[in-house]
Amino acid sequence: MQVLKFGGTSVASAENIRKSLAIVAMASAHGPVIMVVSALGGTTDLLIGAGRAAAAGNAGYRDTLALLAERHAAAARELLADAAQHEKLAAIAAQFGEIQTLCDGVFALGELSHRTLDRLMSYGELLSSRLITAAAKAQGLAAGWVDARQLIRTNSRFGTAEVDMATTTRQVAELRDSAAHHIWVVPGFIGADAQGCTTTLGRGGSDYTAALLAAALDAEVLEIWTDVSGMMTADPRLVRSARPIPRISYQEAMELSHFGAKVLYPPTIQPVMKRGIPLWIKNTFAPYDYGTLVEVEPPRTAAVVQGISSIGNLALLNLEGSGMVGVPGFSQRLFAALARERINVVLITQSSSEHSICVGVNEQDTTPAQAVVDEEFATEIAAGRIEPLRPERGLAIVALVGENMKDHPGISGKLFGALGQNGVNIRAIAQGASEKNISTVIRAADVQKAINVLHEAFFEATVKQVNLFILGPGNVGSKLLEQLARQQQHLLDKLGLQVRVVAIANSRHCLVNENGLDLTAWPDELAQAPALSLAEFAQLIIARNLRNSIFVDVTANPAAADIYAGLLEKSVAVVACNKVAASSDYAHYARLKSLSKEFNASYLFETNVGAALPVIGTLNDLTRSGDVVRRMEAVLSGTLNFVFNNYDGSRPFAEVVRQAQAEGYTEPDPRLDLSGSDVARKILILAREAGQVMEMSDIKVNGFLPPACLEGDVEAFYTQMAAHESQFRALYDAATKAGKRLKFVARYADGHATVGLQQVAPGHDLYDLRGKDNVVLFYTDRYLDQPLVVKGAGAGAEVTASGVFADIIRAARL
Ligand code: ADP
Ligand code: ASP
Ligand code: MG
Repeated sequence: MQVLKFGGTSVASAENIRKSLAIVAMASAHGPVIMVVSALGGTTDLLIGAGRAAAAGNAGYRDTLALLAERHAAAARELLADAAQHEKLAAIAAQFGEIQTLCDGVFALGELSHRTLDRLMSYGELLSSRLITAAAKAQGLAAGWVDARQLIRTNSRFGTAEVDMATTTRQVAELRDSAAHHIWVVPGFIGADAQGCTTTLGRGGSDYTAALLAAALDAEVLEIWTDVSGMMTADPRLVRSARPIPRISYQEAMELSHFGAKVLYPPTIQPVMKRGIPLWIKNTFAPYDYGTLVEVEPPRTAAVVQGISSIGNLALLNLEGSGMVGVPGFSQRLFAALARERINVVLITQSSSEHSICVGVNEQDTTPAQAVVDEEFATEIAAGRIEPLRPERGLAIVALVGENMKDHPGISGKLFGALGQNGVNIRAIAQGASEKNISTVIRAADVQKAINVLHEAFFEATVKQVNLFILGPGNVGSKLLEQLARQQQHLLDKLGLQVRVVAIANSRHCLVNENGLDLTAWPDELAQAPALSLAEFAQLIIARNLRNSIFVDVTANPAAADIYAGLLEKSVAVVACNKVAASSDYAHYARLKSLSKEFNASYLFETNVGAALPVIGTLNDLTRSGDVVRRMEAVLSGTLNFVFNNYDGSRPFAEVVRQAQAEGYTEPDPRLDLSGSDVARKILILAREAGQVMEMSDIKVNGFLPPACLEGDVEAFYTQMAAHESQFRALYDAATKAGKRLKFVARYADGHATVGLQQVAPGHDLYDLRGKDNVVLFYTDRYLDQPLVVKGAGAGAEVTASGVFADIIRAARL
């Protein structure tokens, strides 16, 4: 005997019913078949909805029933011809007449008991199974309808009836001897109590019906035919890259289903496991896919974790107090009190100090649970030996399941690491001694992110998804986007990074696509997108709650720096080419650095100094390895270097500055460069990274611009520079006469820093600098006489973008 169960989707329409029957026809060639069927997909929900509406005095239930009646009639018309069709349509009409009468009664009474609801729900499976029997016969199959209520005996707990296995087994055996059909078509989900009243086995219970019949008949196989190709490594609705698990043990399948893998109703496993009946999960819509085989001892694979699942709607109840330490009986009283209220305990943890016991319950049980526990411990609470129960709602369990976990240390470490890096806070943990399951309790809002992160960590070691939120697609930003577009495939192939740009924003528009923007089409799309304020943009990043999120600030906007802290606190990494934050007051800089540590999120700003040159990285490597930076000497402004390299008196100074701006080497406001303040910010950042507590006001800036140049707007600046040409010329001539070159130099030594224009003699490390080059000389305990030199192009959109890119990759690989 083979038992094949077809779920709601598999019988949702005439077309699907035909597919299911084709599978049954094939199986029946090997021997007799029991075909257990669900209601037509969605029917049970609609019947419940109708019943509840009727009880609430809402006559809309009639429309729902009319709609359901028509769905069944339509399927009958498609599946059956002539006489059989007429007969079936009449039968369907008669059954809907009964349903209508039942609901009218509920409407009149304004009350829907569990018992009536069971009766109402049972029509879903009764209708589908009768229709499918007729369709099977019409196809020439030797099929007959068998009423599950004559087979499955339950107690009278309507809604979630418990099965009396002995009576069920006897009834099944009796029927097997008397019923001659080669194919039995049996409605799933329903049974009857000793009085013959219709009961149901709990939502999703048709799987269980099939398992009970398989066990009672000692079937050779139980097949669960559904709409996915097996039990998967995670819920495919939450994790796109979930994949079927080919073979799994009963124990593991049971854990996964208990912890939310809806594909199998949890009680299903027990009856078949007891008899060692193999259980297949197969896809009605891809019958040749392998599916999942659930068996006693699947072949060992390298997979340590088999699957990840989750249950929502959880609340934690924490019983705490000094009065519990060493006093026996507290847990027993707690659980007894909950049991009296029929409150199911989903998870338990207790600290070894016995100071607290924490239990997880369904969220809807929170209030009754609190009441019953506070009552049970009223005396202790009054005496202050126990705290009143503090429930915490809005939680969920995410569980890792796998029998091999017990032999592998480091699984929890990886679990906590992956969640921690993504700012998912773990509220409680439970691990059974069998180590088949590690459960973590987290915020319900974090479930999707957590499952995806864990799926990546345990199943896709080769691929890590990174989600970028880019602010400021200007000069540098658009180059960065071009580079990202060009390198996406390379990053995936070589580094296993799937880098997606989820949002691009400027001050006027914000373009978002949670699945990753098309990096060739963004400019047009952005122009159409609505505006978001900076605070809203930060909120959006936090609310999307995507794993491995990185905020990339490619602006020079001071306000942008205000959102970093809030993002780091949510474990969103920050990559900034914007210098404002790192050069703002020390307290702010230090706070960002410490948030980055505390929340395990990178805060990187290599491009703040020398564009893509490895200046900060080198400095960090030196100090991390114990070296001490004594002195730094540097030319840090590509703009000033460009200007002084190109100014020889043949063209006005103002014109050379204009060229630098046109070629994109200057800050948006070139006065920041020319005044020396940009260089001052850079040496400040280097000094801080070298370990100094310094403020901007500690940097001595010896500017060379006449004060008049710094008044008014950018155009006035150019006019003023032109008016002061003779001063620039004098500076140049003096240097040339001395055989030297003009360089704008930043110096740091032992806690002091200055920036200013200097004449540099030939042979000096700073002398020979071309175009927009930067150079930094580090004098440290290890590089005492001869400095460590970092030198190269230090400005320009393309190189700056590549530096930001490198920071993104650094943050992503953390
Ligand atoms: P049926 O109606 O056939 O009983 P269900 O809807 O009850 O089907 O169960 C199948 C669904 O379970 C799938 O469509 C899938 O969305 C969901 N599901 C959740 N977790 C898992 C998992 N780990 N593996 C497979 N499917 C899962
Ligand atoms: N039709 C029932 C439900 O939707 C039982 C089942 O499909 O397994 O819960
Ligand atoms: Mg199901």
